[in-house]
Amino acid sequence: MEQGFTEWVILEYCQIIRDIGRDNLILTSLPSGTTDQDIPRPLRELGLVWTTKEVNEYVDVSKSKLCLLDPRAETDLQPLDKESFDYFIFGGILGDHPPRDRTSELKKKLECETRRLGNLQMTTDTAVRTTKMILEGTPFEKIEFIDYPEIRFSKHEATEMPFRYVLDENKEPILPAGMLDLIKKDSEKTLDDFF
Ligand code: SAM
Repeated sequence: MEQGFTEWVILEYCQIIRDIGRDNLILTSLPSGTTDQDIPRPLRELGLVWTTKEVNEYVDVSKSKLCLLDPRAETDLQPLDKESFDYFIFGGILGDHPPRDRTSELKKKLECETRRLGNLQMTTDTAVRTTKMILEGTPFEKIEFIDYPEIRFSKHEATEMPFRYVLDENKEPILPAGMLDLIKKDSEKTLDDFF
């Protein structure tokens, strides 16, 4: 994963824990020497499970089947993949626009099977949400998404998010709790830097 916990990453991981449950997320590959005190409080309070080990040290790869979610994979994830894999691995990598294929670093390390979630980059929490929906039986084609939504704060202020998001029942993109405020704060900072 990225060095350090940015505010953005903390909000995403908190949301992932809320969405899939603390027993279903393991944050691996934290820098050696990491202690509980280095884990941001919101994540500690939600019971984040973490390790400094790499995935393939933490998981017995001779007994478990791993699947890396990779935007460059040739095969899309299908509901039946639930039967084939024990662990799904996501890069704790912030999205860059355009994507720089940093997930491939994980691919080289892990040498496991890979699956794609369509051809557009998602935020990590969206990738986890989509994977859960597919493994619970909803094929990718049936999930409603929005690509590059514009987040509008006022008549004059808006930011385009260069990712694909799942839509909620009100046809709004699902973002981690607190993310709208953070995006607004960041956009105000950028404006302050400008003036
Ligand atoms: N910019 C990174 C890259 O080019 O590889 C992707 C970062 S993405 C925000 C974080 C993680 O979400 C990826 O490492 C991958 O595991 C997962 N992910 C995002 N979009 C995906 C897609 N369309 N298909 C498969 N996995 C995806």
